[in-house]
Amino acid sequence: MRCTGCARAIALPDLKENFRCPECGDLYEVEYPGWSTQNGRGFVDGGVRCNPPNASALRWLWKERRSSTELKDQSGVWRFRELLPILRDEQHIVSLREGNTPLYHLVRTADATGADRVFAKHQGMNPTGSFKDTGMTTALSVAYERGFSWVACASTGNTSAAMAAYAARAGMRSLVLIPEGKIAWGKLSQALDYGALTIQLKTDFDGCVEVLSEVVRRAPVYLLNSVNPYRLEGQKTPALEIAEQMNWDVPDHVIVPGGNLANSSALGKGFLEMKQLGLVDRVPRVSVVQAEGANPLYRSMRESGGERLEPVEAHTRASAIRIGNPASWKKCRNVVRATGGWVEQATEAEIALAKAEIGAEGIGCEPASAVTLVGLKKFLAEGKIGVHETVVLLLTGHTLKDSDYTIDYHRGKLLRDEEIGDLGAEIEITRRNTIELEADAEAVLRELEKAQ
Ligand SMILES: *Cc1c(COP(=O)(O)O)cnc(C)c1O
Ligand SMILES: [Zn+2]
Repeated sequence: MRCTGCARAIALPDLKENFRCPECGDLYEVEYPGWSTQNGRGFVDGGVRCNPPNASALRWLWKERRSSTELKDQSGVWRFRELLPILRDEQHIVSLREGNTPLYHLVRTADATGADRVFAKHQGMNPTGSFKDTGMTTALSVAYERGFSWVACASTGNTSAAMAAYAARAGMRSLVLIPEGKIAWGKLSQALDYGALTIQLKTDFDGCVEVLSEVVRRAPVYLLNSVNPYRLEGQKTPALEIAEQMNWDVPDHVIVPGGNLANSSALGKGFLEMKQLGLVDRVPRVSVVQAEGANPLYRSMRESGGERLEPVEAHTRASAIRIGNPASWKKCRNVVRATGGWVEQATEAEIALAKAEIGAEGIGCEPASAVTLVGLKKFLAEGKIGVHETVVLLLTGHTLKDSDYTIDYHRGKLLRDEEIGDLGAEIEITRRNTIELEADAEAVLRELEKAQ
């Protein structure tokens, strides 16, 4: 484990329960010594003998596993386990067959924007409906292997849904701390369904994080927030899948929503490690988009070139990215710098419109995911992305996660006039309200006629 702040490396047993460096307070990152294309000898990590990284053999092996009947092969995360040497014993894998998510070509977006090679990697198609599953299978397996009976997280919703599901699979208990009255009900219902002890605290997400760090200090509870470096290891695997799905010719750009900034960090780590291992010969630019009302990294890049981050009080209806003090901001900034990406922001109206447009592709996503399409439009307009370049939007959550948002949008109750600004006409085209009629075919036919 290497500290991302002061670069000091520590051995695993010295990792503190809050996963922070005792010297500088920063986060750790899993680092694999000896990973380079020059070194074919393999290495030993945590007692596990790892295969020498041979790019073409690995590609073949990973593909072959897709037709296996074994759980660890069917998982789109553990299928890549040569790049995840984090367990002593593979028997401890806790999996719901996550990953292996689709990469969709966005045809209508191509028509609308002029960019014809735009794809959506839909992480909402995971078992609990968000990308959080890919990191939960790795971090919870570590907790299981180490003999914990309780796991815990503070969550805006999706982390708790994923954690509760994986804990239940492993026969473990889970504790969820959520901010009062500020989460999407679809997500809370999942945590309850999967049997979590769920506590709403009278504070925001950042307040929940603070309370939880004291809880894990005082009780034998394993912390599964994204400060846990093992979550990022699982969350890097969509990068591997994207490369595989594009025949190992990576896209020019990947655009990711930014909340706590772990997911963007993890994807960047995935691409950079693939390059290091000779699996791909370049890395895409990884760009991050935040909601305007929860944009501390965007501001930091503007104001100090990413040197300092001033926390903000977060406001946005995209609940998954309503985070004002992102834990992984330095990791994310490093990825943006290393890959040559950018950081953008999206207004409430831009997010809502983009979400409706992704819905109109027959795909759909949760509000937070739609910031990626807003980013694409802005990067195209500024000439940062060319129309012939290949772009992948990372859709992080399923559209059913927050159906209240969608209904409010189509009924015209989501946005205030001053929020809509000059997007009124475009929003009007995408809105689909329900129509009430007498049970009369004639009346239905008239509506059909009007809608032609
Ligand atoms: C968690 C989440 C995000 C934000 O990811 P971070 O790693 O916190 O930046 C975005 N979208 C969805 C749907 C999420 O669940
Ligand atoms: Zn440190």
